[in-house]
Amino acid sequence: MIKYSYIVLLLLLITSCNTGGGRVSVVGLDTNIEKKIDSIMARMTLEEKVGQMAQFTLDVIGKGGNIYYSDEPFEIDPGMLDTVIGKYKVGSILNTANNRARTTEVWEKAVRTIQERALAETGIPVIYGIDAIHGTTYTAGSTLFPQGVGMAASFNTNLMKEGSRIAAYETRASNIAWTFAPTMDLGRDARWSRQWESYGEDAYLNAQMGLASTLGFQGDDRNNVGSHHIAACTKHYMGYGVPVSGKDRTPALISESELREKYFEPFRTSIVEGGALSLMVNSGIINAVSTHADYRLLTEWVKEDLAFDGVIVTDWADVQNLLSRDRIAVDYKGAVKTAINAGIDLVMEPYNLAFCPALVELVEEGEVPMSRIDDAVRRVLRLKFRLGLFENPYWSRSDYPDFGSRESEAVAKAAADESITLLKNENNILPLPANARILVTGPNAHSMRTLNGGWSYSWQGEKTEEFAQDYNTIYEALQHKFGVPNVRYEPGVTYKMDGQYYEENSPEIGRAVAAAAGVDYIVLCVGENSYCETPGNLDELTLSENQTALALALQKTGKPVILVLNEGRPRLIRRIEPDSKAIIQLYLPGNFGGDALADVLTGDINPSGKLPYTYPKFEQGLITYDHKPSQNIDGKMEGAYDYGAQTSIQYPFGFGLSYTTFEYTNLAVSEQEFVSGDVMTVTVDVKNSGAVAGKESVLLFSSDMVASLSPDVRRLRAFEKISLKPGETKTVTFLLKADDLAFVNEHGKWTLEAGEFKLQAGNQIAMINCSKTRIWDTPNK
Ligand code: BGC
Repeated sequence: MIKYSYIVLLLLLITSCNTGGGRVSVVGLDTNIEKKIDSIMARMTLEEKVGQMAQFTLDVIGKGGNIYYSDEPFEIDPGMLDTVIGKYKVGSILNTANNRARTTEVWEKAVRTIQERALAETGIPVIYGIDAIHGTTYTAGSTLFPQGVGMAASFNTNLMKEGSRIAAYETRASNIAWTFAPTMDLGRDARWSRQWESYGEDAYLNAQMGLASTLGFQGDDRNNVGSHHIAACTKHYMGYGVPVSGKDRTPALISESELREKYFEPFRTSIVEGGALSLMVNSGIINAVSTHADYRLLTEWVKEDLAFDGVIVTDWADVQNLLSRDRIAVDYKGAVKTAINAGIDLVMEPYNLAFCPALVELVEEGEVPMSRIDDAVRRVLRLKFRLGLFENPYWSRSDYPDFGSRESEAVAKAAADESITLLKNENNILPLPANARILVTGPNAHSMRTLNGGWSYSWQGEKTEEFAQDYNTIYEALQHKFGVPNVRYEPGVTYKMDGQYYEENSPEIGRAVAAAAGVDYIVLCVGENSYCETPGNLDELTLSENQTALALALQKTGKPVILVLNEGRPRLIRRIEPDSKAIIQLYLPGNFGGDALADVLTGDINPSGKLPYTYPKFEQGLITYDHKPSQNIDGKMEGAYDYGAQTSIQYPFGFGLSYTTFEYTNLAVSEQEFVSGDVMTVTVDVKNSGAVAGKESVLLFSSDMVASLSPDVRRLRAFEKISLKPGETKTVTFLLKADDLAFVNEHGKWTLEAGEFKLQAGNQIAMINCSKTRIWDTPNK
């Protein structure tokens, strides 16, 4: 069934151009709110204050009490509510129960029950938090967008903002006012199981997408978020995405310079420019220090340096992890003490009720100062006031008539359209003729689960087929597009749907090969089944053996193979790339990915996505575009990643083809000489020199030619997405702050050094010169 209708007019505004999504004016504290907090805190007991610092999962108060064994329909257990809210005065609940999505009706009932109990007990509403990751994950009928990596590939911050606005509305429709998003871990290691949740490998791209998402979630008034917006939680602060082992929640080693210059930047931007109301901490260890125990990163860098007035929340069970996993505490109380004193305000426990008495004791024993408790509680209450929860702790779902609307779905479709990245198109084999006869094959060809990935209706995404039946798989979308008689389906390889994400059934490659007889094209859909977090760890980055064998066998038939990648991270394809006639990267495009692909295959949509990461070719060749010159054997400046004879990468960052061509001319800069504080105007003309309309993400890079620390070969400094008709030329204007060209030196100081810089957009190059060195140490550039 086709569920979406394409609402062109509405979308023109969002999709045709992109100017960075605006800025919120980050106002500070609201004195009225602070006064109300004063009077509430004056009458709170220590136990009540500690309760406000605790967050438990819904399963604790759900009947059955265990995510795997609870029965449907979901109901709250009044006895457990007495314990959690009545006895421990807990101020926050998270997650769904039984690991599954629910209707807005079930959410309304559950949240109302919780809030009525909380208000009767303490007069303070609970704040409910949920992982609304690519839409509101745990609500049946919600609008699901492409995952972060795809949104990044669109290079369209307007779409990002609009998607987050819709997700906020639909989360509110579910009676929830807080999401644990956006995810701004830099996806700089292709092996990591959460690479797809954030916005690719670049700090600036993550910062801009994260900023747009924060603004979309929260709206423009962070002191009065309003009933259509929710609080964002920027996560996972920070360096989570580059574990040395490549495995989730394992230690990272990051230089002091890179930590400040790259990993901190998206968090700084979303807090300082977007006014993000909360922040979640990296579960892992950076440079030997467990992040949940890191006073310097939590209190000094964020609360003091950025004057952050929001809530710092732990990740799942990470206080407990200081004890049982990291072994930096001898007992649970020691772990609690370390985390709270480091600057944690709210502890996502999520099951261990011992947290509350442990923290009460620590305060009574003088191990955690009362001032720390008061600071944390004030932040939590402030968040509740900002979200309007004191006035409206719960509400009616009927106030949200646009939940899952056609208009919202059209935005999700547009985002899928703009994310799709064309990586190869030999002899312009695409677009296909309208009457093409097609074999659609591969394990990802007929699966809503693989289109959506993890955080879809359940944590690992395994329940997607149950909830997403109204949408089109790739196979269904191609049937609609090319006509049922023209599309044949034979998967050849299938995933085990009840196993680990990487498990496959015995392949039936012969059947797929046989089915190729009589068709004109083979659309081979490969990649990964859905996964998330630690269960998504991998040992081998290369595409599975079965899928590789299927591709090689189909290529031998002589029928042109169009390789469609539907994967959370770039699985290596160097053996099957040469004989694929076209290659399309879908990432995890959400519920409209099948329809978007069908439109790209026919040319109804001209692909405009660009890779937000470097697509590796070899497991031992993982590299990012912003590498050091020494990482190129010949020291080339262009970042060609060229290791002599053998090119080490499959596709570079920012790569993506179109059905038209674009010509860049006249790159010009307002000043050739500049100093710190200057703002330069950079212009470049871009022409659609082909025959069809298209969209182009114009990327501006800089290279510091010589620096006292070996400079990155290039850095993305600005981007804008434009639409061009055939023959049309547009001038793109960027405002480039001189200080954005600075790097962080080995002492952690921002450094803008005198000397030459190269700017590049397309094939256009301009040289500029900094005439005076400046070094400074404020965190804000
Ligand atoms: C994940 C977070 C998530 C939290 C709550 C953790 O395991 O790392 O990203 O927000 O669970 O579900």
